[in-house]
Amino acid sequence: MITLKSPKEIGYMRRSGMVTRDLLLYLEEKIRPGVSTKKLDEFAYDFITRKGAKPSFLGYAGFPASICASIDEVVVHGIPSARRLEEGMIIGIDTGAILDGWQSDAARTFLVGEVSEEKRRLVETTRESFFKGVAEFRSGGRLGDISHAIQEYNEARGYSIVRDLVGHGIGREMHEDPNVPNFGRAGHGVRLSVGMVLAIEPMVNLGTWKVETLDDGWTCVTADRKPSAHYENTVALTENGAEILTL
Ligand code: MG
Repeated sequence: MITLKSPKEIGYMRRSGMVTRDLLLYLEEKIRPGVSTKKLDEFAYDFITRKGAKPSFLGYAGFPASICASIDEVVVHGIPSARRLEEGMIIGIDTGAILDGWQSDAARTFLVGEVSEEKRRLVETTRESFFKGVAEFRSGGRLGDISHAIQEYNEARGYSIVRDLVGHGIGREMHEDPNVPNFGRAGHGVRLSVGMVLAIEPMVNLGTWKVETLDDGWTCVTADRKPSAHYENTVALTENGAEILTL
């Protein structure tokens, strides 16, 4: 069941979204060769709690950290560890906060130092495709319009779309209905209406769309171990159109 949010509730989500937005800006400053992903997670935990919010990922289905840290071929759900960033890596950081009972969820893929043209373009295209999706998030449209726009933009540039993982509704819960796939048919799916809040999150691979989960039960990697990028924001549909709450 899709729960629509009132303007007042979206106001709460906007405040939660600002915590997650500011956290990602803060972490971007910390990204450099030599820093461990565990250290980034500590920065995140401290930042979120200092804001009076709660890290929504920590303990979610047993996840052990406040961020997912997904390097190169890791698509999503990388667990922070002692591994240190190196020049040329790309790292997806996905995180979220709960403020006054309301969730926000966002991800960026950051470049570590000088990165190959191939990876840089993958990261840029993934981010751009998110905005193509948001442009279709409008009252009276269909969910498939968003999915199709994201798929088309990436596939036209030779990339592939992860099928096993999708975006989602968000509100008091991190994962609410509906599922928001990054592939689909325009003109199909549930009708979009004011009050919907969605986490729109393209996950885009350089090679095959196929993914695997490692033995830790979390880390999702590309089947061919080629790089993958992720970009996500929490987006509300208001009377004035789509409003990105985490940017
Ligand atoms: Mg999400």
